[in-house]
Amino acid sequence: MPELPEVETVRRSLTGLIGQTLQRVEVPDGRLRYPVRLRQFEMALGQELSALRRFGKYLLLDFGEFSLLFHLGMTGRLLLTEPEASAYTKVVFRFSGATLCFIDVRRFAFVLTGGAATKALPQGGDALEVADRQALIARIRQSSAPIKSILLNQKIIAGIGNIYASEMLFAAGIAPQRKGKRISIAEAERLITAGEKVLRRAIDKKGSSISDFVYSLPGERAYSSGAYQKEFLVYNRAGEPCKKCGALIQKTVLSGRSTFSCKHCQK
Ligand SMILES: [Zn+2]
Repeated sequence: MPELPEVETVRRSLTGLIGQTLQRVEVPDGRLRYPVRLRQFEMALGQELSALRRFGKYLLLDFGEFSLLFHLGMTGRLLLTEPEASAYTKVVFRFSGATLCFIDVRRFAFVLTGGAATKALPQGGDALEVADRQALIARIRQSSAPIKSILLNQKIIAGIGNIYASEMLFAAGIAPQRKGKRISIAEAERLITAGEKVLRRAIDKKGSSISDFVYSLPGERAYSSGAYQKEFLVYNRAGEPCKKCGALIQKTVLSGRSTFSCKHCQK
């Protein structure tokens, strides 16, 4: 599932669309998490794309005051390509100089517009640059949930999924099952700093492509993939030696999600 670094990579791959006019929208297959209707894009037609913003795992295409909000779900893609490139093309956005296709094999992705888009945005602050550290530390320390579940809670902090939660906790030396209320202020500070660093590095590497994450670059025919998966220290490394201490990485299940950690490095 695309997390913050992957969505940020997609955002950066599409910045060439800024300033282009949306001329036409086609909906070859409106079956997504929320059914897509042609008329929901009416307000954007004939308008210039003024900005591309990311918030948590969401991507916003702004046409002045009117925004399209995308969530990639499990396998959603936003690619600069032609609709024929995939049998799973759901929505086609014809800009003055390029075609943007919203593609999804599994139909968990969605696009919302107008008021529905505003309502869907997560309440938690963005994880890439925590704006209010003291507030986040307080939220963590009020919670009796495991720290890893807190990191995944988009109402508390937006953008982190299963991969980066494990990597951040390893980077901070904190065991994933520790309860929020047992985390010290110093540890929470360390976690926020380590977390931002992990996300920045992952963005530098264009995200992680473990299943099928790809993005397209303007003018390039082939899709590109991320490379951060080569730098995973714990995620998907169960039974392999920790790159820091040599102990074997363990896989546990926490709140139904696979969790990877080193017992020796994480307390
Ligand atoms: Zn270790």
